[in-house]
Amino acid sequence: MNSSELTEFDVEHLWHPYTSMQDPLPAYTVESASGVRLKLSDGRELIDGMSSWWSAIHGYNHPRLNEAAKDQIEKMAHVMFGGLTHEPAVELAKLLLEVAPASMEKVFFSDSGSVAVEVAMKMAMQYWHSAGEPGRKKFLTIRSGYHGDTLNAMSVCDPVTGMHAIFEGALPKNYFADSPSCRFGEEWDESCMESFENLISKHHEELAAVILEPIVQGAGGMRFYAPEYLKRVRQLCDKHSILLICDEIATGFGRTGRMFACEHADVEPDIMCVGKAITGGYMSLAATLTTRKVAEVISTDGQPFMHGPTFMANPLACSVAAESIRLLLSSPWQERVSAIEKSLRSGLAECREMAHVEDVRVLGAIGVVEMKEEVDVAELQRRFVEQGVWLRPFGKLVYTMPPFIIEPADLDQLTAAIVDTLRTGA
Ligand code: PMP
Repeated sequence: MNSSELTEFDVEHLWHPYTSMQDPLPAYTVESASGVRLKLSDGRELIDGMSSWWSAIHGYNHPRLNEAAKDQIEKMAHVMFGGLTHEPAVELAKLLLEVAPASMEKVFFSDSGSVAVEVAMKMAMQYWHSAGEPGRKKFLTIRSGYHGDTLNAMSVCDPVTGMHAIFEGALPKNYFADSPSCRFGEEWDESCMESFENLISKHHEELAAVILEPIVQGAGGMRFYAPEYLKRVRQLCDKHSILLICDEIATGFGRTGRMFACEHADVEPDIMCVGKAITGGYMSLAATLTTRKVAEVISTDGQPFMHGPTFMANPLACSVAAESIRLLLSSPWQERVSAIEKSLRSGLAECREMAHVEDVRVLGAIGVVEMKEEVDVAELQRRFVEQGVWLRPFGKLVYTMPPFIIEPADLDQLTAAIVDTLRTGA
């Protein structure tokens, strides 16, 4: 199939993320990817500023991850996890428990981030069912959050950006505190807790859990909030005996400068979701981790936990994920992330002076330019591609979270492309 036939078929038959089938956003054809470069079918090479949505932390086509996949595929690509187990799953669980907060002791593997969130929410509900309080089925979260696209996960995504109106009547109704007004790195203001505190005091008897993204709210607004906020949330959950679910799917594995973002606040969740970078971006895999206590309560009288996907703990994904974590641990990832942070701060600083820019913020290997108005995604993307970089803005946000292995010169090209492109309008 030649390139134009491929594009034609794609436009006619393939749905892409968050696009209309009528006059869809353009999709560029990628032929291969290596290191931090995506190679398009027309021969152009783009420096990747997205890590394929937070996941490809080691870059593409990594020899060690390739080797792990090849080794495993020779043994078995997949076997069911019902009644069978295997070394890749056990090895990965061991590594996850080594890097996760100390209270995490039990691991449930699933196929994607949204499913890991569903699993976390079901764990919280089953916990209360087994604890003799089956009425606790509501969740409290914060606005501007994002937790995935399945219905339960959507029910705790920001109601506006998550387009709850379309699904009115089908989505469970949950509670939303104002999104934290106290930003990361700024002076703590006690009034920041008001909305959350009011809601938890009022509704704690119906709540199964609080669910949030720790420190960095990703797809719901790319906001960074004060660690003190998360500390207070933990204290309030403890005060009212409510479980805390931390969704570390975007933030996990070093992206914010800590292995997990909850470490910024010295907070440990009761349930934690990981995904995305778990396999270094090679394939879909996620996990929901929890404490011994939560698992024991759920399992009272031999009660099963009611979830078990076909591709649970897929050996191919598990062995790549285990190698990805080993690779991360053996790399100077903290230094790399803090060097990226420094370059993003200086590289994007100029955007602050632009009249149409609302805010510029950087944390770890995440750089965000928030515009005053929504951007023209197709046009901006076309200009980024012309400048040899791959970025995918959304709403008012132009942002980057490059692979940790990006070289300084490539990172400079990436930030220069953002500055140049935004200078001439968005
Ligand atoms: N939670 C968070 C914080 C996410 O960023 C995402 C993905 N953007 C998800 C959950 C859902 O993950 P997936 O797309 O793998 O279902």
